[in-house]
Amino acid sequence: MRTGLAPDGGLYMPVEIPKLEPIFWSSLHKLDFTEIALEMARPYLSDELPVEVLKKVVVDAFNFPVKLHSLTEKHHILELYHGPTLAFKDFGARFMARLFSEIAHKEQREVTILVATSGDTGSAVAHGFYKVPGVKVCLLYPKGKVSRLQEMQMATLGENVTALEVDGVFDDCQRLVKQAFVDEELNKKLQLSSANSINIARLLPQSFYYAFVLGEFQKMGMDAPVFSVPSGNFGNLTGGLLAMKMGMPVHTFLAATNVNDVVPGYLKGGTYTPKDSVQTLSNAMDVGNPSNFVRIKALFGGSDASIRSHIKGYSYTDEETLDEIRTVKKQQNYLLCPHTAIGVRAAKEYAISQLGGVPLVTLATAHPVKFRDVIEPETGQKIDIPERLAVWLKREKQSISIGNSFEEFKGFLIES
Ligand SMILES: *Cc1c(COP(=O)(O)O)cnc(C)c1O
Repeated sequence: MRTGLAPDGGLYMPVEIPKLEPIFWSSLHKLDFTEIALEMARPYLSDELPVEVLKKVVVDAFNFPVKLHSLTEKHHILELYHGPTLAFKDFGARFMARLFSEIAHKEQREVTILVATSGDTGSAVAHGFYKVPGVKVCLLYPKGKVSRLQEMQMATLGENVTALEVDGVFDDCQRLVKQAFVDEELNKKLQLSSANSINIARLLPQSFYYAFVLGEFQKMGMDAPVFSVPSGNFGNLTGGLLAMKMGMPVHTFLAATNVNDVVPGYLKGGTYTPKDSVQTLSNAMDVGNPSNFVRIKALFGGSDASIRSHIKGYSYTDEETLDEIRTVKKQQNYLLCPHTAIGVRAAKEYAISQLGGVPLVTLATAHPVKFRDVIEPETGQKIDIPERLAVWLKREKQSISIGNSFEEFKGFLIES
């Protein structure tokens, strides 16, 4: 199996998904998170890296807790937001960064990663690669178009992470990065790579926590649950499908979106029709043409019927999102970010359609504090900023301002 770096710096996606033995899936309760991660990563990466190195990668990457919180006896919340940027994207970014560093080290080359970002992905990638040897990161973000918190998470790091504040919009940032990849002179001088294309390295870690949940359920004597996944580009859900293709027993997946409902529309029997995205409160899910849809299709061999039998689609408005945040605060005294609230609502709606009560797990994709402007007025509860976030807010912004011409960007890359 070829798993090395593709010409654009990405890691190849295997044609055939490796299956793990049934004994692995029935013994998950005996393993901790990093042990599960290592076993699931091995079939993809053991040709590339020795197992001791792979073990170091998972132990360093997942150095924060994954918690399962019981909302009710039948409905659990998988808190994926205890990493450095308080969102589930830390799983993909931290694993990818360490894997990338090890492969760059093995191939004896220093790599410069270029990332155009409109916010959340950039901060996760920046933190993921922070102080990771052999890799330099250059982030481009549009001036005045990201939230203060996002900017402080990207632009205060320093060390091997440079943040460029571009006088323009997100599309300008993306254009500059794309142009850099095809510039001959630049590619002679630097080994450039993109963080967006390292597919399997970002997706794979998003399959580990589904297996972790199954292990926790085995400890409680419960069967495989229904997973409700708040979705935008559908990378998180694709991680679950990957685990299923690796042999994990599953019940059903729920694809929960805001009014950007292209995929739920398709799952309910319509054709897949990309649309322009609409802005909502759950803004990390404002996606009109999810990039992972083609991958989902491929995982099911192109069969619409098979996709629809495994995944049910739900979508909700901002009003319904706020209603869910208030309801759960009132009934369970638990705070949900707007994305997670959509997942919780989908799980509840699905449960009503089922007799006998199935166990449910909703993936909590961000810490509520990241959306305190929305949540505090709705619930009347003040949310304290956790110390690991507060430290960044106290630091100095170190971004470099540039215009939006390619010549200026190129000049910067060559000099730095
Ligand atoms: C990115 C993100 C999502 C959407 O995840 P996808 O993998 O793109 O479906 C949901 N919630 C939050 C908080 C996010 O940052």
